[in-house]
Amino acid sequence: MGVVRDAALCISRDLLCYYCDQVGAFALSEAGSGSDAFALKTTAVKQGSDYILNGSKMWISNADHAGVFLVMANADPAAVSSSLFNSCL
Ligand SMILES: Cc1cc2nc3c(=O)[nH]c(=O)nc-3n(C[C@H](O)[C@H](O)[C@H](O)COP(=O)(O)OP(=O)(O)OC[C@H]3O[C@@H](n4cnc5c(N)ncnc54)[C@H](O)[C@@H]3O)c2cc1C
Repeated sequence: MGVVRDAALCISRDLLCYYCDQVGAFALSEAGSGSDAFALKTTAVKQGSDYILNGSKMWISNADHAGVFLVMANADPAAVSSSLFNSCL
């Protein structure tokens, strides 16, 4: 949630105009997880005013052409102990 909140505060009108002209990509899926967002392994660690993303994504439509990526990552891995999908089994 921290990344989303901070991103909303940081997006200026100029940046928003830049994004409007770009092809976008939505990056959720990984080698070990698809639509189950609770199982994703990519992390986002805050470093100063930036977030460092660490992980890999697969099956991302438009990835070759996109200028802006909406990347799903976990900013608090300790808060997600296991996949929701697994806990349902
Ligand atoms: C043409 C194509 C384009 C794609 N483009 C993108 C893209 O742009 N970005 C991207 O991130 N991925 C993309 N994907 C990947 C896609 O969204 C899936 O992640 C991937 O196909 C495999 O996911 P999965 O193995 O989890 O199977 P899924 O079909 O996602 O899941 C298997 C089953 O488990 C169920 N399930 C999932 N999570 C839970 C849960 N927590 N609890 C209970 N049931 C659950 C689902 O409803 C489904 O019935 C694309 C895939 C294809 C084929």
